[in-house]
Amino acid sequence: MTEHDPRCPCCVSVEDVKFSPWRGSSYDTSPIGIKILVMGESTYEPREYEAGQFKREYECLGSSWFPHKNLLAYSEGLWSDPHFASKWIGLFLDRPPRDLEDRKRVVNSVAFWNYADVMLTSSGKPPGKGDLKTANRKLRSVLAALQPRLVVFLSTRLWSNLAEGCDPFDQDGVKETELYEMFEMKDQGLNFLHFPHPRGRYWKNDKVRSKFKSAIAKLGGKIPSDWER
Ligand SMILES: [Zn+2]
Repeated sequence: MTEHDPRCPCCVSVEDVKFSPWRGSSYDTSPIGIKILVMGESTYEPREYEAGQFKREYECLGSSWFPHKNLLAYSEGLWSDPHFASKWIGLFLDRPPRDLEDRKRVVNSVAFWNYADVMLTSSGKPPGKGDLKTANRKLRSVLAALQPRLVVFLSTRLWSNLAEGCDPFDQDGVKETELYEMFEMKDQGLNFLHFPHPRGRYWKNDKVRSKFKSAIAKLGGKIPSDWER
């Protein structure tokens, strides 16, 4: 087991949040010009884990370990290209990542967090009701800590939950935002892109990439020209 530095600057400790959000080293000064938080659904145990391994690691290394470990493993090439992360990283490159440099430049420029703050035993499962009920309250704390301008919300399944449970977001705004469109919280300078899960059937690379690009432009950002080479 590799040690995790408790002062790691990429892991943002947020009260009551089990899995600390990842904050890339250039998130605050992003070459894109705006701060972007990418959000998945939930964390799940890696398939190769033995029984009890996650619990031991969590007890030993704490809340910062998993998001960091996952993104680090990915950007160091431990996962193959059709991976979940390659899909959303393609939004930033307008194509799939070709090499580790592509993976790293995007991972280092964004923040990442999973909306349901829970470890599931396998992928493809929905989080439990209790975890969804508290998800918005935790999300508010994460948003306060990271101050993003854009949240790329990668889940059709959990979208409506933004308007439910504890501390819900604008009910009408959430309901009226069609898939692939942007929900603007004007008073807070915060925007949510309602995107599908990258492994689901609604994910169409052309569609999500062009929608992402126009959302960024609308908010005054721009993908650096050398990223799309
Ligand atoms: Zn860390």
